[in-house]
Amino acid sequence: MTLDNIKEEIEKAGKIVILTHESPDGDAVGSSLAMYNSLKQLNKDVDLIIPEYPETFSFLAGAEKIKKDSEITNYDLAIALDAADIKRLNGFAKFFEDAKVTINIDHHGSNKMFADYNFVNPDAPACCQILIMVLQYLGVDITKEIGTCLIAGIITDTGGFKFTGTSKETFEFTSWLLSIGVNVSDVYRKVLEIRTKENFALMRIAIDRLELLEDGKIAFTYITKEDEEKVQAKNGDHDGLVDIGRTIEGVEVSILLREADGFFKGSLRSNEYVNVSDVCMMFGGGGHIHAAGCSIHLPLEEAKERLIQEVKNYLR
Ligand code: 5GP
Ligand code: MN
Repeated sequence: MTLDNIKEEIEKAGKIVILTHESPDGDAVGSSLAMYNSLKQLNKDVDLIIPEYPETFSFLAGAEKIKKDSEITNYDLAIALDAADIKRLNGFAKFFEDAKVTINIDHHGSNKMFADYNFVNPDAPACCQILIMVLQYLGVDITKEIGTCLIAGIITDTGGFKFTGTSKETFEFTSWLLSIGVNVSDVYRKVLEIRTKENFALMRIAIDRLELLEDGKIAFTYITKEDEEKVQAKNGDHDGLVDIGRTIEGVEVSILLREADGFFKGSLRSNEYVNVSDVCMMFGGGGHIHAAGCSIHLPLEEAKERLIQEVKNYLR
């Protein structure tokens, strides 16, 4: 069984590295820190490398230990969390490729099964929810601190227990976390409710530009580098902008294009029936049925046109 292999490899390994996906969200940072704190508890020699992550998650235990880079590349074991594709490992695929053994723990349906041991469950609404089982199997004592990291990921990826993947297990696990003293409402407020002033400023711009297309079934908006510079946006300040369109009556798919270095990053969300992961896979991206992303190397107008044409094929 994969979990037996994972346990054995962790027990055997000397130096371990933990990696997660680029533009890390609460599930990426939460699952990485939960694993980091757990491996420390098991007295393992472990590095967690995340070059940049939103300040929002700096309250999680172990955040101050996160490394931006590492001189070592040949780790005994590399563990990727919440990453569907080796290409999304923060440009740190080298640590993964040079490691003697590799493990991939994830919940994306589009996962490329890129490791020696792949523990992937697309039914789980968050990587953190899968980790509970993994950590218990490893014999980790899930403390309040580790539980706080896990709930941060669950709250982020379920949109605060409201997305369709939210399961009976999600509530059972949350209830158990409450019983061990995790302050769920405090984490909820910190990771979902409080917005930075810069995020609010970007939100105004995104709302101002939002267009309803295809009989109001598609909401489209965009953010340029210039916008981000103008409001002095920091890492993560664009989070949640794509969700605005999704809340409008009649909208099935919400699209945000965000200008990056020489390309546009597409973020898509759907409400009911459109599989946006399939849409994004047409552009080399992926994700989940209701939340996915891709990179499009075209100017804004063309990127917009191509995405809309693709989404149209899925609309009823
Ligand atoms: P977001 O729109 O919040 O950046 O991403 C939504 C979901 O799609 C996340 O689960 C994220 O991991 C996934 N995703 C975003 N961009 C890409 C991409 O370029 N490739 C793949 N495979 N998944 C992506
Ligand atoms: Mn996730």
